[in-house]
Amino acid sequence: MVDYAKLRKEMVRRQIGARGVRDKKVLDAMQRTPRERFTPARLKKRAYEDTPLPIGAGQTISQPYMVAMMIEALRLEGGEKLLEIGAGSGYAAAVLAQIAGSVFALERIGSLARTAAAHLKETGHDNVFVRHDDGTLGWSEQAPFDAILVSAGAPDIPEALLRQLGVGGRMVIPVGASKQAQKLIRVTRTDERQYQREELGDVRFVPLIGAKGWREEAPEDPEDPQVPPGRPGA
Ligand code: SAH
Repeated sequence: MVDYAKLRKEMVRRQIGARGVRDKKVLDAMQRTPRERFTPARLKKRAYEDTPLPIGAGQTISQPYMVAMMIEALRLEGGEKLLEIGAGSGYAAAVLAQIAGSVFALERIGSLARTAAAHLKETGHDNVFVRHDDGTLGWSEQAPFDAILVSAGAPDIPEALLRQLGVGGRMVIPVGASKQAQKLIRVTRTDERQYQREELGDVRFVPLIGAKGWREEAPEDPEDPQVPPGRPGA
């Protein structure tokens, strides 16, 4: 029998605490969220490794440290209304749900949206709502959000997400002009019209694909980064 609780405790200490995540709410939430229940059956034993793992459809459950670091960067106080783009396995949404009041999560791949919803139900997270849809357009019926977490790499920050962020709200999003690498950006909406941007470091995520993201199945050529839609000739 694998002692998942023990592995989880070691993961939080070695991979997360030791790398500088200090927010107790985030450390507690990571400690309470059973990553093995969001990991495909054949990979469960590897659920607490320091790495992303495949979840099917060419996507991944993010590395635990990345989830913790991004959530800490959202500066949550507890009880917020959140939006996540890229629910994937549902793991990050489950961690968010330990801190937030409610989490609205969008996933563009139908099979993943269904398994994410099932994982969240099985683990008793009844404050997370998963919808199968293109997250680059946000979830306007539920806006404004106190915070937005984007779990895939965008060519640019989608306008709809900026609009759906409430005043005072924070969004954390990987942004990069190539699909290979991104900078993690925190955007804070300081008032109705103003947004402050901060760079938090280099990251590598699967691409955000959609109407205001990357195009599906575009050729990947590192010598010739794809031009994001809406920027002809850039
Ligand atoms: N947060 C997830 C990480 C999943 S990887 C977890 O903890 O498991 C990123 C996910 O973003 C993938 O599942 C991918 O299908 C999804 N994605 C990519 N573009 C998207 C879009 N426009 N809208 C919603 N989801 C998107």
